[in-house]
Amino acid sequence: MPDRYKAILLFGAPGAGKGTQGKILGKIPGFFHLACGDVFRSLDMTSDLGKQFLSYSSRGELVPDELTIQMWRENMHAQTVLSLYKPKQDLLILDGIPRNVKQAEALHGSLDVLKVIHLRCNDETAMMLRMRRRALKENRMDDADDKVIRHRFEVYHDETFPVLDYYSKEIIADIDAMGSPAQVFQRVLEVVVPVQDAHFNRPAAVGA
Ligand code: AMP
Repeated sequence: MPDRYKAILLFGAPGAGKGTQGKILGKIPGFFHLACGDVFRSLDMTSDLGKQFLSYSSRGELVPDELTIQMWRENMHAQTVLSLYKPKQDLLILDGIPRNVKQAEALHGSLDVLKVIHLRCNDETAMMLRMRRRALKENRMDDADDKVIRHRFEVYHDETFPVLDYYSKEIIADIDAMGSPAQVFQRVLEVVVPVQDAHFNRPAAVGA
């Protein structure tokens, strides 16, 4: 299937650092980072879709699959039309999608998943701390309330974690998510750079 986007999935529990790692990677030429949660948060919250997003996310629930996949497809289309994402040159770094097995199945025809980076962190207290800090910094209601955070973890264990079984074990890279963003980034790069090298021409260096 030549039209599938070549992608790496950033996978892990809420607060494991997917967004932080994805944002840093997305700054490097040859990578394009897209976080599903960011796309949802950029919606007009007075629109129907925006209101639906708020009603689910404020309870720590996933937005229904059909709505999510449709929004993701439209957003990917817009990013390619605007040439922000160039599928022939850029390795897509997807963060926060697929979030359950149904979504993984729905995306199978559109995504050529080359690697799944599983950011592992067994320390829920550390992740909750990260989330509370982020809630204050980014004004995220879903991360401000302990009850909602706990529910987000439950949803992760019940619905998202099984996505790992959907993909072949050979493409799953377990990475220790504890440590500073730079330390974790070093581990992420060790996995990501060989994938980029194998599938894309090396992007030209830019700078002064
Ligand atoms: P995140 O920023 O990835 O933690 O996502 C914040 C919220 O957006 C989640 O709690 C969900 O309500 C919603 N969301 C993000 N990605 C998805 C997805 N792939 N499927 C369903 N809901 C999602």
